[in-house]
Amino acid sequence: MCGIYGYLGNRSNAAQTVIEGLRRLEYRGYDSWGVAAVAGGYFDLTRRTGPVDVTDITLPKGSAALGHTRWATHGDITVHNAHPHLDCSGGLALVHNGIVENAESLRQPLIAAGHTFHSETDSEVIVHLIEQERHHGPSLHHAVLAAFRQLQGINGIAILDRTGDCIVAATSGSPLVVALNNGEAHIASDPSALQSANSSIIVLEDGQLAIVERSNVRVMDMQLGSWVTPHILPSQVSNVSKPLKPGEHWMWREICEQPRLLRLLADDAAAESLALAQAIRNATSVTCVGCGTAYHASLYGRYALASAGERSHAVPGSEFAFLADAAGPGGVLIALSQSGETIDVLDAVHYAHHQGATVIALVNAHWSTLARVADKVIRLRAGPEQCVLATKSFLAKIAIITLIEAALRNDLTSGQHILRDAASHIESILTSVFQEHITDLASHMASQEHLYCLGRGRSTAIAL
Ligand code: GLU
Repeated sequence: MCGIYGYLGNRSNAAQTVIEGLRRLEYRGYDSWGVAAVAGGYFDLTRRTGPVDVTDITLPKGSAALGHTRWATHGDITVHNAHPHLDCSGGLALVHNGIVENAESLRQPLIAAGHTFHSETDSEVIVHLIEQERHHGPSLHHAVLAAFRQLQGINGIAILDRTGDCIVAATSGSPLVVALNNGEAHIASDPSALQSANSSIIVLEDGQLAIVERSNVRVMDMQLGSWVTPHILPSQVSNVSKPLKPGEHWMWREICEQPRLLRLLADDAAAESLALAQAIRNATSVTCVGCGTAYHASLYGRYALASAGERSHAVPGSEFAFLADAAGPGGVLIALSQSGETIDVLDAVHYAHHQGATVIALVNAHWSTLARVADKVIRLRAGPEQCVLATKSFLAKIAIITLIEAALRNDLTSGQHILRDAASHIESILTSVFQEHITDLASHMASQEHLYCLGRGRSTAIAL
């Protein structure tokens, strides 16, 4: 739940561009933030706890900057622990998403070698490790490669050199994307933050390193140590939300988008649902896997498939390894996820592949890792979901499951009717006097100490 945003270009307000990028990442949650901008060959570092607010700050002029919104895992929420972190020479600025699991064992030799640490974070270890590796040769990317290979855990990093000429990034499963546009390069941990980049987007795969320059990106497979053709999204990601109007909030906006989405799915997801129903019929076993709300959608799927005569399992991603036979040869794993980056779901997918199962993803982020590794993909088509609580992405999963259930009964049309009727029903709820009742009910619920939601059969999944 943290964010990286970097910019190299021709504008003299790189820091402001990065601040705007960080604001677009705010919806993911964070506790502190920072930006390092290259100004006159040195880093100008701004770091704060709390919200991204620059009203009392004069941002430096310069055409290269790197920023971060932090979700603290190692060390308190303090200015010193906020990213970016600099190396001892002040020549490198680093931002990091993830956890370096072996940080302590890496830190001690670095201290012994004379490095001075200014934070309690695991992240600062990385920048000193890169500085140390640089003693073996001047090339930044070779030093990043050598350092990154020593890290354990799921990590995404971006490093800006104080020349301001390039950003080197590397990932072991933590999302990173790059956009190039007319002599400007943007790097972000979430494509939805790349609002201003009207360009094709390069996705860094797990195990890749990138050298990002203003008009060029080179991508390396870190295991092989050789350059590879980058994975380019076929078209501009439409995962961009218009900014909120005063008084508006994401949850209400995204609930209001649901009727349109249901109608869209009734038309556009019908053929895919039919194909998935056929795959389910032919499978030796069917397992639905998800985490959090996606797990509840999986549970709904289990009831829905059962009512159409197909037995299946619903397993939370984190427990998949305990259920080793949940997907084997001839089996189908249906992996549900909004972001397509949920680690436990991806682990389940790798495991199921290893066991010989076919993986079908129901996923919203069609550029995501899950969408790339699955054998077949049904897109949720929900568009950006900025609200932290799942609204339309959950409904999209339920809607597609409804189509699959209808297809299993050889009556796809009835599923399409259900979706269109539900769209009209939700619309009337949202636009009629019911809206008032819902607001009353919501404030009543908010004032209760305990809430119990009851359901039976598939309603259990909704109640959960
Ligand atoms: N583990 C790092 C820290 O605690 C990065 C956390 C994050 O992903 O924001 O600073």
